[in-house]
Amino acid sequence: MRNSRRQNVPEDVYPFEEWRLVEKGFNFRNLAATESLFATANGYLGMRGTCDEGQPSFHSGTYVNGFHETWPIVYGEEAYGFAKEGQTIVDVPDAKVIKLYVDDEPFYLPTATLEHFERALDMRAGTLDRDLIWAHSSGQRVSIMSRRLVSLEHRHLAVVAYDITLLTNDAPVVIVSEIVDGGPTTNPDNDPRIRQFGCEVLEPRLKRASDQRVVLGLQTRSSGMTLSCAVDHDMKTDCNYAVDVRAESSSGQIVYSVDGVVGARIRLIKYITYHSSRRPQAEELCRRSERVLDRAVHHGFDDLLQSQRRFLDDFWSRSDVVVDGHPEWQQTVRFNLFHICQATARAEGVGVPAKGLTGPGYEGHYFWDTEIYLLPFLTYTMPRVAQNLLRLRHSQIEQARQRAREVNQQGALFPWRTINGSEASAYYAAGTAQYHINADIMYALRKYVDATGDTEFLENIGAEILIETARLWADLGFFSKRDGKFRINGVTGPDEYNTVVNNNLYTNLMARENLWYAAETIRTLRDNDPTKFSALTRDTDLDLMEIDEWQRAADHMYIPFDDDHGIHLQDDSFMDKEEWDFVGTPPDKYPLLLHYHPLVIYRHRVVKQADVVLAMFLLGHEFSLEQKRRNFTYYDRLTTRDSSLSSSIESIVAAEVGEHEKAFQYSIDAGLMDLADVAGNVKDGCHIASMGGFWMTLIYGFAGLRDDGGDIRFTPRVPDRLGGLRFSLEIRGRRLEVELTPTFATYVVRGNESLTIYHEDAVVELIPDVPVSREVTRLTDATAMSDVS
Ligand code: BGC
Repeated sequence: MRNSRRQNVPEDVYPFEEWRLVEKGFNFRNLAATESLFATANGYLGMRGTCDEGQPSFHSGTYVNGFHETWPIVYGEEAYGFAKEGQTIVDVPDAKVIKLYVDDEPFYLPTATLEHFERALDMRAGTLDRDLIWAHSSGQRVSIMSRRLVSLEHRHLAVVAYDITLLTNDAPVVIVSEIVDGGPTTNPDNDPRIRQFGCEVLEPRLKRASDQRVVLGLQTRSSGMTLSCAVDHDMKTDCNYAVDVRAESSSGQIVYSVDGVVGARIRLIKYITYHSSRRPQAEELCRRSERVLDRAVHHGFDDLLQSQRRFLDDFWSRSDVVVDGHPEWQQTVRFNLFHICQATARAEGVGVPAKGLTGPGYEGHYFWDTEIYLLPFLTYTMPRVAQNLLRLRHSQIEQARQRAREVNQQGALFPWRTINGSEASAYYAAGTAQYHINADIMYALRKYVDATGDTEFLENIGAEILIETARLWADLGFFSKRDGKFRINGVTGPDEYNTVVNNNLYTNLMARENLWYAAETIRTLRDNDPTKFSALTRDTDLDLMEIDEWQRAADHMYIPFDDDHGIHLQDDSFMDKEEWDFVGTPPDKYPLLLHYHPLVIYRHRVVKQADVVLAMFLLGHEFSLEQKRRNFTYYDRLTTRDSSLSSSIESIVAAEVGEHEKAFQYSIDAGLMDLADVAGNVKDGCHIASMGGFWMTLIYGFAGLRDDGGDIRFTPRVPDRLGGLRFSLEIRGRRLEVELTPTFATYVVRGNESLTIYHEDAVVELIPDVPVSREVTRLTDATAMSDVS
């Protein structure tokens, strides 16, 4: 049953432009949403799309990925092994604010009379641009233009260019460039998914002010992390001006008093840098910040613009998906991909928060969202970034081992939500119990290795992850005396509306894959590289008998199936529950988690997000087409899509089972999750997993890519309404370009080596630079149904 969801038609708000998201007028009602949508970020540093003047704002939000405060989790009733310490990203001092006074009147967007207003996120230039004319009550007219970018090339650097031109007469102009304390976050709806710390958790360690520069060093109270935040300026004008600089403990001000002359441009360029460290080293970080500023001021703004463009040209050449003839789809596609780029490009040594760096939702935590929803896109378009993210998990393996001990298991248990590697989930039923995170990491690793051919990474980094995750599964489950099957009890699958269940299908299937892959990888290593193998067994204390045990557990894995309905069971007790009263639940009671006690939800048959359906996508080869169709029909009806991680997966499976209309609609839901605020909470940040999921609806759904074991197979089903799709994928060092229409597919491989792929069931041998076209077998809804009935 599909609950009805608010669906703004984005065209009303944002006119369709292929490369830009444009706002044509200042709209106070959209403020909170546009702060997320117009955010600029690079995966390390993120700034919400607040107006240059700082006010008005909903969450001002500037984030340094990984820079977090810790706090003791206080439980009303404690129990053994509960996570002890919360981790929350800190809203760091906001250094992008530039206030303006003309003739001593402050420029304040909501009350200013505007003759013209346009704000645009330019996805090719990588800038947030604003252009407006302020009609002052005195008769003065002022042109105000600004350009903000968070550099994709220089990880620690952001810049704002702020241009003022008096259009009517001379007047005093005061520009105040500030570093503002990030205040505490507002959470008017008491949404449990929001918590944030601002400057109240930061202690001043150092401040310097000189010339047009302010440098601050700060440290979090509890986690002991250090931050430096520094700004420098370049004022370019023919008008006379004076400067005054001041630094406070966690703020700063640089005041320019300009004798404004009509027609003369006043241009202030503000360079901003942040550095963070786990250690208390404010002086060292501040020195680093100063070096970055020296370099940035020396090279100048135009240089930064150019390098931003270069970076994005490369990004788009690898990642763009062209939807022929549909500007509205094109904008949606590029908006989603651009935000993934902004969330991941420079995520080095850190993960990807669920909201990227666009808002406070989910506290800056990293979830399985990364491995299952983002890694496919990254693996095929930016494998360097995919590898960085897998490395991050490996770097946290020691904490995962420790966590396994805390929950009385062997091996390693990766945290359900984390920043620093420790479990930060205070609600174990929908947190720690999601053991599947282990297998999700394994799955992403395997896809990465298959798609890139990077076996060295598998041997040097991946193998250890595989050993420890396999150990966890082998220890967590047991061979049932009843039937000798290997069962895994007391886990939560992806669907958080059915928690702590026995034999969640998704978990069992993914655990089986994990065990098999670990056994296969370690045996191959033993045969091919005995030296590496013995180093690994020594480091991990591996006993060869363990591998046989993994194999046995996997081979005997229990797969829940309901013979009466002829469907796979989501878990052992799924059918024993009373079905949720969908008809009697009004739309404003969704998402259920915000309106019903968890126990009410748990005792009903209702699904928050794709679970069995996700298993059918990730491990498609384990199901026949008929099973997929029956399962899809059954579970789709019970799914609320209360998580933004659902629609994309359902779209892909709907496309496969021939439910083309659903495939199309769910893809739109995923694509517009943020632009049309489908889930109603874009104000708290963009849904980065859904963005990755949307890409998957195009590539795995409509283009019908399947990549089991590294074989590349397309079964295209491009909807007539979409026209055509063009995209490329990087496969083992070659670039595969794909062009699809509803009736034809053309493939070409670039590089020096040939590539074998499959079109539908036929082998296609591609030799470099020679396009090969194939007809697409058209499947109507009806034929797809009759195929399987
Ligand atoms: C979903 C999880 C997801 C988390 C962060 C929750 O609503 O149920 O699967 O990891 O959001 O995106």
